[in-house]
Amino acid sequence: MFDKKSYTLYKFHKQINQSFQNKRELLECALPALRDLFKLDRVYFFNWQQEWALLSLKMMCKKEYCMDMQEDISVANEPAFLRQLLQTGIAETTDLSYPALYVLIRWKRPSVELKSGEIRSVLREKVGVLRLERFRKNRVFTPAEIDLIKDLGKEISHNLYNTEIDQIKNQRLSMSTALNDLSTIFASSLRLNDGLELILKGVQRFFQFDRVHLYLTNSEGTRIKSVWGVDISGTVTQESGSSLGEEEKQILKEVFESSATYRARRSIVYIPLKLQRSKVGFLTFDNILSRRKIGYLDFISLQQFASQMALSIDNARLFERVQELSNYDELTKLPVRRYFNEKFAEEIYRSKRFGLSLSLIIMDIDWFKQINDNHGHQIGDWALKSVSKIIRSCLRQTDVPCRFGGDEMVIMLPRTNSEEAKIIARRLKERIHAITLPDRDALEPVHLSISQGIATFPSDGATVEALLEKADKALYVVKQRGRGDFAVYREVLDQLQPEPEEQPAVADKPKDAQEDKQLP
Ligand code: GH3
Ligand code: MG
Repeated sequence: MFDKKSYTLYKFHKQINQSFQNKRELLECALPALRDLFKLDRVYFFNWQQEWALLSLKMMCKKEYCMDMQEDISVANEPAFLRQLLQTGIAETTDLSYPALYVLIRWKRPSVELKSGEIRSVLREKVGVLRLERFRKNRVFTPAEIDLIKDLGKEISHNLYNTEIDQIKNQRLSMSTALNDLSTIFASSLRLNDGLELILKGVQRFFQFDRVHLYLTNSEGTRIKSVWGVDISGTVTQESGSSLGEEEKQILKEVFESSATYRARRSIVYIPLKLQRSKVGFLTFDNILSRRKIGYLDFISLQQFASQMALSIDNARLFERVQELSNYDELTKLPVRRYFNEKFAEEIYRSKRFGLSLSLIIMDIDWFKQINDNHGHQIGDWALKSVSKIIRSCLRQTDVPCRFGGDEMVIMLPRTNSEEAKIIARRLKERIHAITLPDRDALEPVHLSISQGIATFPSDGATVEALLEKADKALYVVKQRGRGDFAVYREVLDQLQPEPEEQPAVADKPKDAQEDKQLP
């Protein structure tokens, strides 16, 4: 058998023990229930910010309705009242002309705390106060009522805690759905850079941090290769990692050396992006400008998202690496013919459309067989690598070099006429000639030498085949003249054989030139 108090408690419990979206919804149910149960004229709910001794009014419920309210009431000058409320959980006012009762409501809310550089998940104590009012002076609260109100207060506390947890769970769910959508977009993006831009904009949109930065490292995590940033306006920036200062390098070390999944420093939170087999980089975010608190949910969600992000970035990097490998020659790290042909098609289209010139240089190392024979294949390989390095360093970003095969390289120079191509050819000739073979047994320094042939669009042809053929003919003339120089096709026409069918095929080097080869 229930006694009356237990039955009332049970009824109240049934009434407010539902799933509420938030604290406000719960209060909208609990305050009228209290009003009806105790025949109250008014019920208030305050948040209590103990440190400021302020009661912040949140909701007021009268006979007919409940409404949100905002008003701060100072209780700093009422130490006796405060002491009683905190000690007993209940206090009656003495300064009103009608009965009013204050009831302390305590509950916990999951939160994060930044303390001495570490973020910790904590349950933060929240305190609220109910004020129950009856307007008729003689309707004082009886001890039995006060006893019951105390228990109902505990019931509200319990439900507030559950509601906070539910609210966080719901937010977390919608956040993970959103982040999952983001990850899907990222994963489906073929190019890493496009994906990163999308992801940063998405993170900014969802979390609204003042700043988010993504530091991408090499897979050993020893060097920062690039830094991506997004600010509150959603503007994405990218810069190279070489501009980083010592402090950032130190942070990099700390982030990866620590086994923690985050690190906080001067109000900036660092989340490492790492996988078992490689390090990807780290993500930082802060609210330094707006001074907003970083929410518990934001932090936890971003932390979860970081692992998906690390995986996606690593996959994208792997994909790009495989693409790179198939486009570049292993030894010289120069693009291969297939890549060169693709680029040529793009460039010749542009050149035709905008009436620009384009030049090709075919270059062949002189006496390369002898270098291999006299100094060994390894030194031959070294020479090839050194020549490629010089080629790369002499060109503009838009120029495309290529290892055509063996000791033969081709360079495409967009927007370059033959006179300008000659300047580059001369530079290449001089710099490559300055290379000395690293052969300790050689009696005197052995220098490298190259021969080059130049052809130019539009005068010498409009296809890769036509231009290569002309450039190769010019190269042939240089080899015949004794090597170590360069020639422009149109300038050596008179030195070529007049009958096209009698000319040697492009790949066919003249037999006579092969016979008396020796290093000059
Ligand atoms: P020329 O001045 O007429 O060009 O004479 P050459 O000796 O350089 O003759 P050619 O260009 O026809 O010879 C290319 C040689 O390059 C043949 C081959 O043994 C060598 N070679 C091709 N690929 C490699 C490589 O990857 N490494 C090394 N070490 N040698 C290579
Ligand atoms: Mg050669």
